[in-house]
Amino acid sequence: MPASSGPDLWVAGLFAAALSAVMMTAIVGVRYLITSGLFAWITGRVRPGLYKGLGGQIRREIGWSLLSAAIYGLPAGIAAWGWQARGWTRIYTDPAAWPLWWMPLSLLVYLALHDTWFYWTHRWMHRPRPFRIAHAVHHASRPPTAWAAMSFHPVEALTGAVVIPVLVFLVPIHAAMLGLVLTIMTVMGITNHMGWEIFPRRLVHSRIGHWLITASHHHRHHENYRCNYGLYFRFWDHLCGTDRGLSAP
Ligand SMILES: [Zn+2]
Ligand SMILES: [Zn+2]
Repeated sequence: MPASSGPDLWVAGLFAAALSAVMMTAIVGVRYLITSGLFAWITGRVRPGLYKGLGGQIRREIGWSLLSAAIYGLPAGIAAWGWQARGWTRIYTDPAAWPLWWMPLSLLVYLALHDTWFYWTHRWMHRPRPFRIAHAVHHASRPPTAWAAMSFHPVEALTGAVVIPVLVFLVPIHAAMLGLVLTIMTVMGITNHMGWEIFPRRLVHSRIGHWLITASHHHRHHENYRCNYGLYFRFWDHLCGTDRGLSAP
């Protein structure tokens, strides 16, 4: 039987996809440790003592977050392999492949779709049974810290992990814009939880701020539980009457 026969190729593909998932897990885990570590360090400089007495909680946040890294790594690794090895995704690298205006628009589309998915799954996870099973871990951080960015129960991590890997198969996006989506996801995930507002008051309390989610908005969700469910935008919270305004973290 020739070495390049069907089953051998299939096994080689499976092995390459698994390797990609392991590498992606390591990348997500290291990215989490570096970025959360950086913002925790900044917090120590600008709000000394804010995390005082939270050592035990922070250790649990890091443990859940590293477990989440593996859950994020699996679909992300498979999508990355599908892109690189098989050309299955709609990620493109030639800027001329789509009109230039699609670049910023694709960024907005990705953020809006992720936000919509997050809002509704998050609301669902605040029903009593799903909350106990999937979401109590995230709310065990009281108050959350910069280390809580990925502190999720595996079930909740899975609901978050599939979004971007599914979207890259459906909605065309330039690789640089995808990098920007992931950067925004990482930075906002951390800054929204770190216990103080990093964005200027003038922006947070402006007309644009009325539609954007930063720490002042998400902190209220962690105080109040029954409001402010969104991820990036306050569109769904405003529309569904679940927006209770800003907290003063
Ligand atoms: Zn949160
Ligand atoms: Zn919640």
